[in-house]
Amino acid sequence: MGHIERSEHINFMDFNNTRYIPMSRRRRIYEGKAKVLYEGPEPGTLIQHFKDDATAFNAKKHQVIEGKGVLNNRISEYLFQHLNDIGVPTHFIRRLNMREQLIREVEIVPLEVVVRNVAAGSLSQRLGIEEGTQLPRSIIEFYYKNDQLNDPMVSEEHVTAFGWATPQEIDDIMALAIRVNDFLTGLFLGIGIRLVDFKMECGRLFENEMMRIIVADEISPDSCRLWDIKSNEKLDKDRFRRDLGGLLEAYTEVAKRLGILMENERPLGAGPVLVKG
Ligand code: 5GP
Repeated sequence: MGHIERSEHINFMDFNNTRYIPMSRRRRIYEGKAKVLYEGPEPGTLIQHFKDDATAFNAKKHQVIEGKGVLNNRISEYLFQHLNDIGVPTHFIRRLNMREQLIREVEIVPLEVVVRNVAAGSLSQRLGIEEGTQLPRSIIEFYYKNDQLNDPMVSEEHVTAFGWATPQEIDDIMALAIRVNDFLTGLFLGIGIRLVDFKMECGRLFENEMMRIIVADEISPDSCRLWDIKSNEKLDKDRFRRDLGGLLEAYTEVAKRLGILMENERPLGAGPVLVKG
């Protein structure tokens, strides 16, 4: 047997046709509150790793909820894959394992784009509209992504004046937001869930001298408000924000209704496993 070069060795560990780089040797590009981004196997790709950390109120509240990252990875994969399938461009390429997915590298637009169908959360607080009130039409809001400033809400005027996005990019982002909202509203309605609101992020994808805006980050119960149609039970991160408990059970319920998890499957496969001889 000949000597195996280091690079060859890595190639032997091909994972789903992706050159697998052991975690310890990967270059960490960015660490956020709930995710880590690593350098990807090919130029222009990244690996998005979902952590179990739950944070709220700009990380003033923090808890590790074992299994949350696995569920969000699966749910976000499902939603992004379906968006890709209907022609809504996203950064998602494929899921690699329980906690990671391969994504396209983009330049993130520093805005949180919130789409609301039903009054809740900060809209209800700010405008005194009772939670659960159906809005006359879907509303799109922009928040400037800046932890030091607590992600303040901004207008299109701010966005263009400060150069966070051009008027054309705002049009593209709003068109994407409406398509994502229409698709997700129908998808969740079909499984007995009301999409109250959600947050999405967009990025600039540079390809052959061309640039286009695509959907990035994640879409999961961490970034959506999802209420059971009949009971109005919250199946999202408000369970953590509002100390309601049962976050993992709620995310598992969403995954089961989407058909991602089998009835008896546990997100982590935690606990003893009976191996039949
Ligand atoms: P609100 O402005 O009412 O707090 O949030 C509106 C929607 O956007 C909710 O679905 C909420 O989960 C989501 N959202 C707003 N800001 C963030 C954020 O910083 N991180 C995440 N994961 N979701 C957010």
